[in-house]
Amino acid sequence: MMFKSIFVKLLVTYLLIIMSAIAVLSLFISMTYSGYVFEQKQKELEKTGYYVTELVNKRERNEISQTELNTSLDSLGYISDSSIYVIRIDKKAIENPKSLQLGGDLEESNLFGDLQKILSGENVFRKKQYSQKLDMYVVFSGIPWKTNSGISGAILLVSPISQISSNIAKLNLFIWIMALVLIILSAIVIYFNSLRISKPIKQMEIAADRLASGERSDDLVVVNSADEIGKLAKSFNSMKQQLDSTEKMRSEFIASVSHDMRTPLTSIHGFVSGMMDGLVKPEDYNKYLTIIKEETIRLTRLTNDILHLAQIQSGNLKLLKEKLKVKDILNFVLNSTRTIMEEKSISISVKCDNTLMVYADGDKLRQILINIIDNAVKYTGQGGEICINVTSRPKHSVTEFRIRDTGIGISVEELPLIFEKFYRVDKSRSLPGGTGLGLNITKSLIELHGGEIGVTSKLGTGTEIIFELPQ
Ligand code: ADP
Repeated sequence: MMFKSIFVKLLVTYLLIIMSAIAVLSLFISMTYSGYVFEQKQKELEKTGYYVTELVNKRERNEISQTELNTSLDSLGYISDSSIYVIRIDKKAIENPKSLQLGGDLEESNLFGDLQKILSGENVFRKKQYSQKLDMYVVFSGIPWKTNSGISGAILLVSPISQISSNIAKLNLFIWIMALVLIILSAIVIYFNSLRISKPIKQMEIAADRLASGERSDDLVVVNSADEIGKLAKSFNSMKQQLDSTEKMRSEFIASVSHDMRTPLTSIHGFVSGMMDGLVKPEDYNKYLTIIKEETIRLTRLTNDILHLAQIQSGNLKLLKEKLKVKDILNFVLNSTRTIMEEKSISISVKCDNTLMVYADGDKLRQILINIIDNAVKYTGQGGEICINVTSRPKHSVTEFRIRDTGIGISVEELPLIFEKFYRVDKSRSLPGGTGLGLNITKSLIELHGGEIGVTSKLGTGTEIIFELPQ
């Protein structure tokens, strides 16, 4: 269970990689160093050996005295920290060094084999050789004693290993302490890095669980990085906000619908009860039945709007787009509102080229225009004016519709809200019969066509609705 968490996985993986890398590196440095130290020692001993050869040959030629030779050899031994042996071996004994009776320091088990090699002309070097005589490990170097007449014997140098080993051990200690420090430092960095990566994921997991169980909170996942996890957190947050706002909208929607339905139902119920109980005089029946009829029309419109909205929101609404003559559509819409406009003596001017075409769903475009023009008529007083101006903007290949009225207007604060569901500016001021859904549906339909809608308005002066549809 524990190893399933991303944090532990990251931590263990990183640590293993870093630890093995550091271990391999340290081992490599340590081995290289010890190889180097022994190589230097070998060179030093061989060099001393050659020098000894020269001295011994000088003595052979009587160029220096025995005392001089001894003194020089002592100094050389001191400088190179080694014991120096010069062994003269005659021709016959060279074939079989075992026959030699070597005494003193040189009764070593390996020695005969090495001597055989040296006498055949090879240099011999042993990094670590146990000396029975000295009872310690030594570095051993042997070279042939070369004279003019050939090989006359061997020159052996034996140096205690302790100095070299202690140097190597010191360096090794240093290397491994450094390795440990490095591992601890990287472990700290890795720990925080793993935490940084896994913490937001854990946070999101908890938040997602809460969301799934229906728990509501405004807490967002806080991630400041710009990497994929940061982006994931951002997406998660916006998804959460989206869900929250959908949830809020849903409950507000239900509240509004219930409210908007209850009001007409209450009045219908009131009037019908009054008539049945005889509280309403038969001569008033007509008046109340008219109200009841209006309320049922309103209820039907509300139900239709809601159904329409649901259809748009579910994404099931399919547009049957075709090339349409704008003028025909406008004439149809204006015909249906003509009576009310005449009643309110609202004058209407239409500027629309006969040839202007638009690529849209006919029914939906009619509904868009009815919603907007109905509002213009509704919110414009007696003797007002409505101007409809449709122009082509070939540069953006759109057709622009402008519907301007000289009505009551909308305040700046409320302007951005009129496209929201159920939003009705100052309910007492808005005329009865509205649902607050009209402009919301209109906006959705226009956007479904790939168009845009906007509004400008001034309180008391009038309103202009502008929308564009692709040609
Ligand atoms: P409604 O069914 O109430 O008309 P809409 O969604 O069509 O709902 O409009 C929302 C609100 O915007 C309306 O209640 C109204 O107050 C305001 N409104 C819309 N068009 C106009 C306009 N031409 N002049 C003034 N106010 C308007």
